[in-house]
Amino acid sequence: MQSERLQSILDEVAAAAQADPDKGRVADYIPDLARVDPDQFAIAVARPGQPTLVAGDAATPFSIQSVSKVFTLAVALGKIGGHLWLRVGREPSGQAFDSMFLLEQEKGRPRNPFINAGAIVTTDAVLEGTEPKAALASILRFVREAAGDDAIHINESVAQSEIATGHRNFALAHYLLSHGNLQHPPELTLGTYFHQCAIEMSCTQLANAGLFLTACEDAPRMVSSSRIRRINALMMTCGHYDGSGDYAYRVGLPGKSGVGGGILTIAPGIASIAVWAPGLNHYNNSKLGTEAMQRLTDLTGWSVFGAPTD
Ligand code: GLN
Repeated sequence: MQSERLQSILDEVAAAAQADPDKGRVADYIPDLARVDPDQFAIAVARPGQPTLVAGDAATPFSIQSVSKVFTLAVALGKIGGHLWLRVGREPSGQAFDSMFLLEQEKGRPRNPFINAGAIVTTDAVLEGTEPKAALASILRFVREAAGDDAIHINESVAQSEIATGHRNFALAHYLLSHGNLQHPPELTLGTYFHQCAIEMSCTQLANAGLFLTACEDAPRMVSSSRIRRINALMMTCGHYDGSGDYAYRVGLPGKSGVGGGILTIAPGIASIAVWAPGLNHYNNSKLGTEAMQRLTDLTGWSVFGAPTD
């Protein structure tokens, strides 16, 4: 698609989002996120070898939260490969991101690596045989390299704010430990997990960081192409928790959301798209972000379920 046409679509999508009075509700269970102004919106589209196109507050950094789980999964698979699947499933959970329900029923084996329990196990796998600092550094290094941007950093205050209040995640970690599915003390694995969630990026940086998942010829080669297909499949089926079916229906592309209001979406072979609007819908995914992605894909025709238009 021509850049001028794509830019006018982004402007239209941003204008519609900015005009919508219903912004959703910002996550308030993490004190630092409760303070974010809901009246912000950004979208960015990265395509290999072309300037990243943006609209709205695309240079404003936000907490990527669960979007980080995609990068940690890539790092964990790089480290222990398919062994990860002995500890975590690959099925949608149909439950909230922090649900305990299935974990109890399924004896401490989380349904997938994108719900909190599964992400905690995935981070625990990255920690294997490594100091926590080095494990965290390997995740941050991966993100920086994928985005081609060494300025990407962790917001320590957000991480501390979650360490102080993340009781549900501690409950999940202790439950995993009781089933022998955590190899490190909960404080240690969660310390790493909370810091990975506290990575801050702008929409422009996040869109760039997702380029490796487009499998475009000129995209950064961070993982093998067969792994790209698998990560995208998991994003499509599990990336929005109990709202994954809804996102697949509305947007038709693999995506991963975070409670900071960011969503990374991949149009395979075409583009990596990041959207950010802090207010969430009842699935705890960005409300305006989801709606903007639906509008964008309706206007571009980008979908893994239709004939390619680009
Ligand atoms: N750090 C958040 C948590 O563990 C991530 C949740 C999310 O983004 N859905 O609760």
